[in-house]
Amino acid sequence: MHMAAFRTASERGVLFDIDGVLVTSWSPLPGAREALEWVRSAGARRAFLTNTTSKTAGDIATALRACGLDVDGAEIVTAARLTGEHLRNHYPGQRVHVLTDGPLDDLGGGFDLVEADDPAGPPDVVVLGGAGPTFTHDALSRVFEFLLLKIPVVAMHRSNAWATAQGQRIDTGLYLEGLCRVTGTTPVVVGKPSPVGFRTAAELMGLDPTAVMMVGDDVRADVLASQVTGMRGVLVRTGKFRQAALDAVEGDEFGLVPDFVISGVGELPELLTDVWGL
Ligand SMILES: [Mg+2]
Repeated sequence: MHMAAFRTASERGVLFDIDGVLVTSWSPLPGAREALEWVRSAGARRAFLTNTTSKTAGDIATALRACGLDVDGAEIVTAARLTGEHLRNHYPGQRVHVLTDGPLDDLGGGFDLVEADDPAGPPDVVVLGGAGPTFTHDALSRVFEFLLLKIPVVAMHRSNAWATAQGQRIDTGLYLEGLCRVTGTTPVVVGKPSPVGFRTAAELMGLDPTAVMMVGDDVRADVLASQVTGMRGVLVRTGKFRQAALDAVEGDEFGLVPDFVISGVGELPELLTDVWGL
C-alpha cells in the first residue's frame, strides 16, 4: 500500500464527473449542492472533468449555477479544451477538419479549421467530437474517406452513449470503433478514459494525481481510468451506473476495482471525512 505524506485539505482535490454525478439532463441530483459546498468549505480543491461536447466550459458553469450548483467556468475541463491542447502540441498551424455536434470555442487557436470539401484538399488531421445530428451519413462518409487516405484521427472522447431523461443516446465511440476497425486506423483519444485527460486535470488543479479523488458514474471511463493515473476512484450508483457493469469489472482478469462505491454524491462528505480525515 502506497503511503502518501500527510496532506492538508488545500493539498488535496476532488475531480467531479458532471453528468450522472451532479446532474441528469441538467437537473441536480440529491445532495450535489451540499457536497460541492462541503468540499469548498473544507478547503480542498475542485475541478470538473467532462466529455460533454454540446456546451462550452462557460455554458456548463452557467447551466450548473442555474441548477443551484456554484461552479466557475475556470474549474471546468472539457474534452474540447483538452483536444485544443493536443492539436497545438502535435499539429501546430496545420489544417484540421472537425466533425462535432458541439461548439468549437473551447478548442482555442493555433491551427486552421477546414471543411471536408476544402478546395486546398484533404485536411492534415480529422477530429471527431460529440455525436449528434451533424453525424450524418454524408459527413461520416467523408471522414471514412479521410481515414482510408491514412489521415490521422483524434477523438475528443470515445464514450459509447449518454443517458438522457428519454433514454440512452449513442455517442462518438460507436462510430469511431467502426471507422477505425474498417480502415485499420488507431485513433488518439484525448478525453476520458484517456489518462491524458486525468493528468491534465490534476495539473490544472496544481496537484499530483495521488492527491486527487475522482468521482464518476461510469465504472470504467471515470473510475478505473482515473485510478490508473494514481487517483483514488469513487463510483456513484446514479446516472449511467448499472450493477451489471460493476459486476463485470469485479469478474474480469485485471483485478482492478473501484476504490470506493457510494450510493450518490451526497455521501461524499462522509467518505472524505473517513478517508482524508477532513
Ligand atoms: Mg457521467
